[in-house]
Amino acid sequence: MKILVVNAGSSSLKYQLFDMDTESVIVKGGVERIGIRGSVLKHKSAKGEKVIEQDMPNHKIAMQLVLKALVDPEYGTIKSMSEIDAVGHRVLHSGGDFDRSVLFSEGVLQICKKNAELGPLHMPANILGMEACREVMPDTPMALVFDTAFHATMPPCAYMYAIDYDDYKNYKVRKYGFHGTSHKYVSQEAIRYLGKKAEDTKIITCHLGGGSSISAVKGGKCVDTSMGFTPLAGVPMGTRSGDIDPAVLEYLAAKKNLTILDCIEYLNKKCGVAGISGVSSDFRDLTKAADDGNERAKLALDVFAYGVKKYIGSYIAAMNGLDCLVFTAGIGENTWQVRKAVCENMDFFGISIDEKANEYKNDGMIHDITGKDSKVKILVIPTNEELVIARETKNLLEH
Ligand code: ADP
Repeated sequence: MKILVVNAGSSSLKYQLFDMDTESVIVKGGVERIGIRGSVLKHKSAKGEKVIEQDMPNHKIAMQLVLKALVDPEYGTIKSMSEIDAVGHRVLHSGGDFDRSVLFSEGVLQICKKNAELGPLHMPANILGMEACREVMPDTPMALVFDTAFHATMPPCAYMYAIDYDDYKNYKVRKYGFHGTSHKYVSQEAIRYLGKKAEDTKIITCHLGGGSSISAVKGGKCVDTSMGFTPLAGVPMGTRSGDIDPAVLEYLAAKKNLTILDCIEYLNKKCGVAGISGVSSDFRDLTKAADDGNERAKLALDVFAYGVKKYIGSYIAAMNGLDCLVFTAGIGENTWQVRKAVCENMDFFGISIDEKANEYKNDGMIHDITGKDSKVKILVIPTNEELVIARETKNLLEH
């Protein structure tokens, strides 16, 4: 069975074609600058990399070019589109309407459109991706895999905000959580690694990338997560503030003459470690600057690690214990300095890392960085959101 995984952004479209018999990637690629001058498609397979520069005014044309590349006699990898058994779409927000992945239908599309306002940065693009595929491959089944679905098991005490209950009821204002496919994948991999029954495990997964979120996974199910109604909440991120006293907004709006939209844009794009350091949102730049003595870069790294550490502590309280701490995503997998700083002075919780094991070079494998006195297993598990989407799509087709 072959499954095409599609991750559509506002001006981008990433794709991977999986052979599900071996769970291997046959080809992957991405389109950038859709609707902007200089659109480009990069297509990578065992036959090498092909770069196609051509105007792509919308997602439909981008999708047509992707399919053309997939079947191209020279650099394509399949003979015809009919070899693609299904498409799995990454979708940001289920709006609480779906607690698992679903097959695409007109009704499901309408629900996604209704929920688009809950994820204004991603949902319109996700919907364009679905519509583009429906147009260019109308007979191929499609599945939608939601970033929020893994968090649907959170108990009300974790997802409720302390606001007027009517606003929760009428406007669906609550915590949803994001990066669900990643938290699900790495927690399942951790359970497998531990060799325990899922019911007997208490795991904290730290997805630390451009956006970062921490989840508490008890008995294989998410019981809390750090992102909220939107992906702006939780730990500080590359350019996002994470948790902040909301009264700061009124104060800053008055000082800097900002509207509420300006404030949200500020919190999304001008804050986080980039805002503190004034150097970069990229942890490679930050660690280098800190090594060179840049105090603000050091401060940004400290604030980030402290934010992650505090969530770990609070989730140990939420689960009354911890068996395994998992690091994943760009920073979690690559930046050993962050893992070290997060795990420092956590011996009260039985957490300590093996410093030497922690400084490994990322090779895409699971690494056990547990210190010899640590009661908690500490693992680095490379995430694979696309594989989860492909697996969920296959499951939906077969059941
Ligand atoms: P996203 O998918 O949210 O954009 P990633 O999970 O790819 O983010 O993480 C990207 C971040 O990981 C970068 O901003 C950078 O700070 C950090 N990082 C550190 N080392 C590396 C590395 N060797 N390769 C890629 N990203 C790295």
